[in-house]
Amino acid sequence: MLSLYVHIPFCRTRCVYCDFYLVTRQDLLEPFFQALLVETEARLSRFKGRSVKAIHFGGGTPSLFPVSYLSRWLELVHACCTFTPDVEITLEANPEDLGGGRMFELHAAGINRLSIGVQSFNQRKLAALGRSHTREQGLQAARTAGDLFQSVSVDLICAVPDETRDEWASDLRDTVTLQLPHVSVYMLSVEPKTRLHRSVSRGDVTVPGEDVQATLYEDALGTLAGSGYQHYEVSNFSVDGHHSRYNLACWMREPYLGFGPSAHSFIVDGGAEIRQANVSLLSRYMADPQNAATFYEVLSENERFLEQVFLTLRINRGLDIGFLRKGNKLGHCIADKIEELRASGLVFEEGGKLFLTSKGFLFADHIAGELVSD
Ligand code: SF4
Repeated sequence: MLSLYVHIPFCRTRCVYCDFYLVTRQDLLEPFFQALLVETEARLSRFKGRSVKAIHFGGGTPSLFPVSYLSRWLELVHACCTFTPDVEITLEANPEDLGGGRMFELHAAGINRLSIGVQSFNQRKLAALGRSHTREQGLQAARTAGDLFQSVSVDLICAVPDETRDEWASDLRDTVTLQLPHVSVYMLSVEPKTRLHRSVSRGDVTVPGEDVQATLYEDALGTLAGSGYQHYEVSNFSVDGHHSRYNLACWMREPYLGFGPSAHSFIVDGGAEIRQANVSLLSRYMADPQNAATFYEVLSENERFLEQVFLTLRINRGLDIGFLRKGNKLGHCIADKIEELRASGLVFEEGGKLFLTSKGFLFADHIAGELVSD
Protein backbone atom coordinates (compact mmCIF):
# COMPACT_ATOMS: atom_id res chain seq x y z
CA MET A 1 0.00 0.00 0.00
CA LEU A 2 1.37 3.42 -0.96
CA SER A 3 0.82 7.02 0.10
CA LEU A 4 1.65 9.95 -2.17
CA TYR A 5 2.71 13.51 -1.43
CA VAL A 6 2.86 16.46 -3.84
CA HIS A 7 4.80 19.57 -2.87
CA ILE A 8 3.33 22.67 -4.50
CA PRO A 9 5.93 25.34 -3.73
CA PHE A 10 3.92 28.51 -4.44
CA CYS A 11 2.57 31.21 -2.12
CA ARG A 12 1.25 34.70 -2.82
CA THR A 13 3.59 36.21 -0.26
CA ARG A 14 5.87 34.77 2.41
CA CYS A 15 4.55 34.80 5.98
CA VAL A 16 6.95 36.41 8.47
CA TYR A 17 7.84 33.12 10.21
CA CYS A 18 8.09 30.82 7.19
CA ASP A 19 11.32 29.19 6.04
CA PHE A 20 9.82 26.57 3.70
CA TYR A 21 11.05 26.23 0.18
CA LEU A 22 8.63 28.25 -2.00
CA VAL A 23 8.40 30.89 -4.71
CA THR A 24 5.92 33.75 -5.15
CA ARG A 25 5.98 33.86 -8.99
CA GLN A 26 2.58 32.64 -10.09
CA ASP A 27 3.61 32.62 -13.77
CA LEU A 28 5.62 29.47 -13.01
CA LEU A 29 2.57 27.45 -11.96
CA GLU A 30 1.91 26.11 -15.45
CA PRO A 31 5.50 25.02 -16.28
CA PHE A 32 5.77 23.52 -12.80
CA PHE A 33 2.62 21.51 -13.43
CA GLN A 34 3.99 20.16 -16.73
CA ALA A 35 7.18 19.09 -14.92
CA LEU A 36 5.13 17.47 -12.16
CA LEU A 37 3.27 15.37 -14.74
CA VAL A 38 6.57 14.22 -16.25
CA GLU A 39 8.04 13.27 -12.86
CA THR A 40 4.86 11.50 -11.75
CA GLU A 41 4.49 9.44 -14.90
CA ALA A 42 8.14 8.40 -14.92
CA ARG A 43 8.32 7.41 -11.26
CA LEU A 44 4.91 5.78 -10.97
CA SER A 45 5.68 3.47 -13.89
CA ARG A 46 7.71 1.40 -11.35
CA PHE A 47 4.67 1.12 -9.08
CA LYS A 48 2.02 0.12 -11.65
CA GLY A 49 -1.00 -1.63 -10.12
CA ARG A 50 -0.09 -0.65 -6.55
CA SER A 51 -2.81 0.43 -4.21
CA VAL A 52 -2.85 4.04 -2.95
CA LYS A 53 -4.42 4.73 0.44
CA ALA A 54 -3.61 8.44 0.94
CA ILE A 55 -2.66 11.45 -1.17
CA HIS A 56 -1.56 14.74 0.33
CA PHE A 57 -1.18 18.02 -1.56
CA GLY A 58 1.12 20.14 0.63
CA GLY A 59 3.14 23.29 0.22
CA GLY A 60 3.46 26.15 -0.11
CA THR A 61 -0.17 26.90 -0.77
CA PRO A 62 -1.70 24.04 -2.77
CA SER A 63 -5.02 25.90 -2.90
CA LEU A 64 -3.34 28.25 -5.43
CA PHE A 65 -3.25 25.33 -7.87
CA PRO A 66 -6.05 25.42 -10.48
CA VAL A 67 -8.61 22.69 -9.76
CA SER A 68 -8.17 21.40 -13.33
CA TYR A 69 -4.49 20.64 -12.51
CA LEU A 70 -5.47 18.67 -9.41
CA SER A 71 -8.00 16.65 -11.42
CA ARG A 72 -5.55 15.94 -14.18
CA TRP A 73 -2.83 14.82 -11.77
CA LEU A 74 -5.28 12.53 -9.95
CA GLU A 75 -6.35 11.03 -13.29
CA LEU A 76 -2.72 10.32 -14.14
CA VAL A 77 -2.19 8.53 -10.81
CA HIS A 78 -5.43 6.61 -11.23
CA ALA A 79 -4.27 5.36 -14.64
CA CYS A 80 -1.24 3.71 -12.95
CA CYS A 81 -2.48 2.74 -9.51
CA THR A 82 -5.71 1.71 -7.84
CA PHE A 83 -7.21 3.77 -5.03
CA THR A 84 -8.45 2.02 -1.91
CA PRO A 85 -12.23 2.50 -1.44
CA ASP A 86 -11.55 4.77 1.55
CA VAL A 87 -8.61 6.65 0.00
CA GLU A 88 -7.90 9.94 1.78
CA ILE A 89 -7.16 12.85 -0.59
CA THR A 90 -6.11 15.94 1.36
CA LEU A 91 -5.48 19.46 0.13
CA GLU A 92 -3.80 22.04 2.35
CA ALA A 93 -5.67 25.29 1.76
CA ASN A 94 -5.60 28.88 2.90
CA PRO A 95 -8.95 30.44 3.88
CA GLU A 96 -8.67 33.27 1.33
CA ASP A 97 -8.66 30.69 -1.51
CA LEU A 98 -11.83 28.92 -0.45
CA GLY A 99 -14.56 31.43 -1.30
CA GLY A 100 -16.83 31.78 -4.34
CA GLY A 101 -17.71 28.13 -4.87
CA ARG A 102 -14.09 26.92 -4.91
CA MET A 103 -14.77 24.35 -2.22
CA PHE A 104 -17.49 22.74 -4.32
CA GLU A 105 -15.09 22.49 -7.26
CA LEU A 106 -12.41 20.89 -5.08
CA HIS A 107 -14.91 18.42 -3.70
CA ALA A 108 -16.10 17.54 -7.20
CA ALA A 109 -12.47 16.99 -8.26
CA GLY A 110 -12.09 14.25 -5.65
CA ILE A 111 -10.58 16.09 -2.68
CA ASN A 112 -12.24 14.58 0.39
CA ARG A 113 -10.21 16.15 3.19
CA LEU A 114 -9.28 19.82 3.62
CA SER A 115 -6.51 20.95 5.93
CA ILE A 116 -7.13 24.66 6.42
CA GLY A 117 -4.27 26.99 7.38
CA VAL A 118 -6.34 29.09 9.75
CA GLN A 119 -3.50 29.59 12.28
CA SER A 120 -5.70 31.82 14.46
CA PHE A 121 -9.16 33.34 14.72
CA ASN A 122 -7.67 36.46 16.29
CA GLN A 123 -7.05 39.43 13.99
CA ARG A 124 -4.09 40.70 16.03
CA LYS A 125 -2.37 37.31 15.89
CA LEU A 126 -3.06 36.98 12.16
CA ALA A 127 -1.40 40.36 11.56
CA ALA A 128 1.58 39.43 13.77
CA LEU A 129 2.04 36.26 11.67
CA GLY A 130 1.76 38.17 8.39
CA ARG A 131 -1.23 36.11 7.24
CA SER A 132 -3.36 37.56 4.48
CA HIS A 133 -6.80 36.27 5.57
CA THR A 134 -9.15 37.65 8.20
CA ARG A 135 -10.80 36.07 11.24
CA GLU A 136 -14.11 36.02 9.36
CA GLN A 137 -12.60 34.29 6.33
CA GLY A 138 -11.11 31.64 8.62
CA LEU A 139 -14.40 30.99 10.38
CA GLN A 140 -16.40 30.96 7.16
CA ALA A 141 -13.99 28.57 5.43
CA ALA A 142 -13.97 26.18 8.39
CA ARG A 143 -17.78 26.17 8.69
CA THR A 144 -18.45 25.57 4.98
CA ALA A 145 -15.74 22.90 4.75
CA GLY A 146 -17.15 21.13 7.81
CA ASP A 147 -20.51 20.79 6.02
CA LEU A 148 -19.04 19.64 2.71
CA PHE A 149 -15.99 17.44 3.22
CA GLN A 150 -15.68 14.00 4.74
CA SER A 151 -12.90 15.26 6.99
CA VAL A 152 -11.54 18.72 7.83
CA SER A 153 -8.59 19.90 9.85
CA VAL A 154 -7.58 23.35 11.02
CA ASP A 155 -4.02 24.39 11.87
CA LEU A 156 -3.47 26.68 14.84
CA ILE A 157 -0.30 28.47 15.93
CA CYS A 158 0.39 29.51 19.51
CA ALA A 159 3.15 31.48 21.22
CA VAL A 160 3.10 34.30 18.64
CA PRO A 161 4.67 37.62 19.72
CA ASP A 162 2.92 39.09 22.77
CA GLU A 163 0.31 36.33 22.88
CA THR A 164 -1.63 36.14 26.13
CA ARG A 165 -3.21 33.07 27.66
CA ASP A 166 -6.62 34.69 27.16
CA GLU A 167 -6.03 35.14 23.44
CA TRP A 168 -5.03 31.49 23.14
CA ALA A 169 -8.04 30.37 25.19
CA SER A 170 -10.27 32.31 22.81
CA ASP A 171 -8.65 30.65 19.77
CA LEU A 172 -9.21 27.23 21.34
CA ARG A 173 -12.83 28.10 22.19
CA ASP A 174 -13.53 29.22 18.62
CA THR A 175 -11.95 26.00 17.36
CA VAL A 176 -13.90 23.54 19.52
CA THR A 177 -17.13 25.42 18.78
CA LEU A 178 -16.65 24.55 15.10
CA GLN A 179 -16.72 20.83 16.00
CA LEU A 180 -14.32 19.83 13.24
CA PRO A 181 -12.85 16.34 13.41
CA HIS A 182 -9.15 17.28 13.35
CA VAL A 183 -6.97 20.03 14.82
CA SER A 184 -3.20 20.59 14.55
CA VAL A 185 -1.48 22.83 17.08
CA TYR A 186 1.97 24.23 16.37
CA MET A 187 4.25 26.30 18.55
CA LEU A 188 5.64 29.30 16.66
CA SER A 189 9.29 28.66 15.99
CA VAL A 190 11.70 31.50 15.19
CA GLU A 191 13.70 30.15 12.26
CA PRO A 192 16.93 31.76 11.01
CA LYS A 193 16.70 34.03 7.95
CA THR A 194 12.99 34.78 8.45
CA ARG A 195 11.53 38.26 8.90
CA LEU A 196 10.39 37.17 12.35
CA HIS A 197 13.95 36.25 13.27
CA ARG A 198 15.17 39.69 12.23
CA SER A 199 12.40 41.42 14.23
CA VAL A 200 13.20 39.35 17.33
CA SER A 201 16.95 40.00 16.94
CA ARG A 202 16.36 43.76 16.68
CA GLY A 203 14.16 43.62 19.79
CA ASP A 204 11.09 44.89 17.87
CA VAL A 205 8.99 41.93 19.05
CA THR A 206 9.24 39.41 21.87
CA VAL A 207 8.12 35.81 21.62
CA PRO A 208 6.90 33.93 24.68
CA GLY A 209 9.58 31.97 26.54
CA GLU A 210 9.65 28.21 27.13
CA ASP A 211 7.58 28.32 30.34
CA VAL A 212 4.78 30.26 28.65
CA GLN A 213 4.96 27.94 25.63
CA ALA A 214 4.55 24.92 27.93
CA THR A 215 1.53 26.53 29.59
CA LEU A 216 -0.11 27.30 26.22
CA TYR A 217 0.53 23.75 25.02
CA GLU A 218 -1.00 22.32 28.20
CA ASP A 219 -4.01 24.64 27.77
CA ALA A 220 -4.47 23.17 24.28
CA LEU A 221 -4.26 19.59 25.59
CA GLY A 222 -6.80 20.37 28.33
CA THR A 223 -9.33 22.14 26.09
CA LEU A 224 -9.12 19.67 23.23
CA ALA A 225 -9.20 16.58 25.47
CA GLY A 226 -12.17 18.13 27.29
CA SER A 227 -13.97 18.40 23.95
CA GLY A 228 -13.40 14.75 23.02
CA TYR A 229 -10.26 15.03 20.89
CA GLN A 230 -7.70 12.25 21.07
CA HIS A 231 -4.10 13.44 21.20
CA TYR A 232 -2.52 11.07 18.67
CA GLU A 233 0.73 12.85 17.82
CA VAL A 234 2.76 15.68 19.36
CA SER A 235 0.87 18.36 17.39
CA ASN A 236 -2.24 16.50 16.26
CA PHE A 237 -5.68 15.82 17.69
CA SER A 238 -8.66 14.02 16.18
CA VAL A 239 -12.07 12.59 16.94
CA ASP A 240 -13.61 9.31 15.76
CA GLY A 241 -10.56 8.05 13.89
CA HIS A 242 -10.24 11.23 11.75
CA HIS A 243 -6.45 11.20 12.06
CA SER A 244 -4.43 12.18 8.98
CA ARG A 245 -3.91 8.85 7.22
CA TYR A 246 -1.07 10.28 5.16
CA ASN A 247 0.83 11.68 8.14
CA LEU A 248 0.25 8.58 10.21
CA ALA A 249 1.60 6.41 7.38
CA CYS A 250 4.81 8.51 7.36
CA TRP A 251 5.19 8.31 11.14
CA MET A 252 4.56 4.56 11.06
CA ARG A 253 7.31 4.17 8.48
CA GLU A 254 5.04 2.95 5.71
CA PRO A 255 6.20 3.67 2.13
CA TYR A 256 5.35 6.99 0.50
CA LEU A 257 6.42 8.77 -2.67
CA GLY A 258 6.93 12.54 -2.73
CA PHE A 259 6.68 14.55 -5.97
CA GLY A 260 7.78 18.13 -6.64
CA PRO A 261 10.77 20.16 -5.47
CA SER A 262 12.07 19.31 -1.98
CA ALA A 263 9.62 16.41 -1.58
CA HIS A 264 10.84 13.38 0.36
CA SER A 265 10.12 9.69 -0.26
CA PHE A 266 10.44 6.52 1.78
CA ILE A 267 10.72 3.43 -0.37
CA VAL A 268 10.78 -0.18 0.79
CA ASP A 269 12.42 -2.29 -1.89
CA GLY A 270 12.88 -5.95 -1.00
CA GLY A 271 14.66 -5.83 2.35
CA ALA A 272 16.08 -2.33 1.77
CA GLU A 273 14.59 0.85 3.20
CA ILE A 274 15.46 3.98 1.23
CA ARG A 275 15.03 7.67 2.02
CA GLN A 276 15.14 9.96 -0.99
CA ALA A 277 14.67 13.72 -1.49
CA ASN A 278 14.13 15.91 -4.53
CA VAL A 279 16.14 19.02 -5.33
CA SER A 280 14.97 22.12 -3.43
CA LEU A 281 15.15 24.47 -6.40
CA LEU A 282 12.22 24.95 -8.75
CA SER A 283 14.33 25.87 -11.79
CA ARG A 284 16.45 22.71 -11.44
CA TYR A 285 13.38 20.61 -10.81
CA MET A 286 11.67 21.93 -13.95
CA ALA A 287 14.80 21.44 -16.04
CA ASP A 288 14.93 17.69 -15.37
CA PRO A 289 11.92 16.43 -13.41
CA GLN A 290 12.63 12.76 -14.15
CA ASN A 291 15.90 13.03 -12.29
CA ALA A 292 14.82 15.36 -9.50
CA ALA A 293 16.19 13.22 -6.65
CA THR A 294 19.44 14.65 -5.31
CA PHE A 295 19.55 12.71 -2.06
CA TYR A 296 19.38 8.92 -1.77
CA GLU A 297 20.24 6.84 1.25
CA VAL A 298 19.79 3.16 2.13
CA LEU A 299 19.16 3.05 5.86
CA SER A 300 21.50 1.05 8.07
CA GLU A 301 20.22 -1.18 10.90
CA ASN A 302 21.05 1.53 13.42
CA GLU A 303 19.27 4.26 11.41
CA ARG A 304 16.15 2.10 11.21
CA PHE A 305 16.29 1.60 14.97
CA LEU A 306 16.65 5.34 15.65
CA GLU A 307 13.77 6.20 13.33
CA GLN A 308 11.56 3.62 14.98
CA VAL A 309 12.27 5.03 18.46
CA PHE A 310 11.77 8.69 17.50
CA LEU A 311 8.62 8.12 15.43
CA THR A 312 6.91 5.61 17.75
CA LEU A 313 7.31 7.97 20.68
CA ARG A 314 5.85 10.90 18.72
CA ILE A 315 2.67 8.98 17.90
CA ASN A 316 2.58 7.50 21.40
CA ARG A 317 1.59 4.02 20.27
CA GLY A 318 3.79 2.44 22.91
CA LEU A 319 7.49 1.84 22.38
CA ASP A 320 8.30 -1.80 23.06
CA ILE A 321 10.87 -1.86 25.87
CA GLY A 322 12.27 -5.21 24.71
CA PHE A 323 12.88 -3.71 21.25
CA LEU A 324 14.53 -0.67 22.84
CA ARG A 325 16.82 -2.85 24.95
CA LYS A 326 17.76 -5.04 21.98
CA GLY A 327 18.58 -2.18 19.61
CA ASN A 328 20.39 -0.03 22.13
CA LYS A 329 24.08 -0.33 22.74
CA LEU A 330 23.40 0.47 26.40
CA GLY A 331 21.45 -2.78 26.84
CA HIS A 332 20.63 -3.21 30.52
CA CYS A 333 21.31 0.51 31.35
CA ILE A 334 18.08 1.37 29.57
CA ALA A 335 16.13 0.54 32.74
CA ASP A 336 17.93 3.35 34.60
CA LYS A 337 17.18 5.83 31.82
CA ILE A 338 13.52 4.91 31.82
CA GLU A 339 13.38 5.24 35.59
CA GLU A 340 14.91 8.74 35.37
CA LEU A 341 12.36 9.81 32.75
CA ARG A 342 9.53 8.23 34.72
CA ALA A 343 10.59 10.05 37.91
CA SER A 344 10.56 13.35 35.97
CA GLY A 345 6.95 12.68 34.96
CA LEU A 346 7.78 12.37 31.25
CA VAL A 347 6.97 8.71 30.51
CA PHE A 348 5.00 5.79 31.92
CA GLU A 349 5.08 2.04 31.33
CA GLU A 350 2.18 -0.19 30.49
CA GLY A 351 2.22 -3.80 29.24
CA GLY A 352 5.95 -3.76 28.53
CA LYS A 353 5.64 -0.56 26.46
CA LEU A 354 6.71 3.00 27.06
CA PHE A 355 4.31 5.94 26.59
CA LEU A 356 4.72 9.71 26.89
CA THR A 357 2.79 11.63 29.54
CA SER A 358 1.14 14.94 28.56
CA LYS A 359 4.26 16.72 29.81
CA GLY A 360 6.43 14.21 27.90
CA PHE A 361 4.80 15.19 24.58
CA LEU A 362 6.48 18.59 24.89
CA PHE A 363 9.88 16.91 24.96
CA ALA A 364 9.27 13.92 22.66
CA ASP A 365 12.44 14.31 20.61
CA HIS A 366 14.58 15.05 23.66
CA ILE A 367 13.24 11.90 25.38
CA ALA A 368 13.90 9.79 22.30
CA GLY A 369 17.43 11.24 22.20
CA GLU A 370 17.97 10.27 25.84
CA LEU A 371 16.78 6.73 25.20
CA VAL A 372 19.19 6.13 22.34
CA SER A 373 22.24 8.08 23.54
CA ASP A 374 25.20 6.38 25.19
S1 SF4 B 1 1.17 30.20 3.53
FE1 SF4 B 1 2.32 28.57 4.60
S2 SF4 B 1 3.93 27.97 3.17
FE2 SF4 B 1 3.10 29.93 2.43
S3 SF4 B 1 4.46 31.47 3.30
FE3 SF4 B 1 2.74 31.23 4.73
S4 SF4 B 1 3.44 29.64 6.21
FE4 SF4 B 1 4.81 29.56 4.43
